[in-house]
Amino acid sequence: MFLSQLDRKEKPTFAREKFRSKKIKMANNRTFTMIKPEAVAKGYTGAILDRMVQGGFRIVAMKKTQLSKAEAGTFYEVHAERPFYGELVDYMSSGPIVAAILEKDNAVTDFRTLIGSTDPTEAAEGTIRKDFAESKAQNAVHGSDSDENAQIEGSYFFSGREMY
Ligand code: UDP
Ligand code: MG
Repeated sequence: MFLSQLDRKEKPTFAREKFRSKKIKMANNRTFTMIKPEAVAKGYTGAILDRMVQGGFRIVAMKKTQLSKAEAGTFYEVHAERPFYGELVDYMSSGPIVAAILEKDNAVTDFRTLIGSTDPTEAAEGTIRKDFAESKAQNAVHGSDSDENAQIEGSYFFSGREMY
């Protein structure tokens, strides 16, 4: 089941492990991103998408949507034991986000370079987080950290027929 098909009132019962147990086609040319709530609210969506396209990424799939608390909790469940988890879940479900699957050679690594460090005060000049992030928590964009997670995260949001 895909996240987009869930009844928003239902707590998601799936977990990353379920996706891992399926045979996942590994690819090193796609990553998954979200433009986070504070960046969307500030009207940065167009400028951030432009950075991605100018950075050589092709948009395979894209949508504007809002995560429920349960969905945000599931998406970030790898951080469940971290002290910032509760705030992260509240923040990520606080307003609409823009989700996208992006394509480029070495997509995961190159996209992490394009967005910069988690903490914008440590992010390199010219990176998306340096220029658009508010803080370490409200840091404008998400980028997958591995090919496997790119596949899992993209599948949360998009069905095969939404990818072009
Ligand atoms: N985060 C936070 N405080 C921290 C570390 C992370 O609020 O000390 C938030 C931040 O929004 C970050 C997300 O949790 O983007 C996921 O953390 P991760 O370490 O995976 O950073 P990322 O991969 O997004 O750079
Ligand atoms: Mg991460």
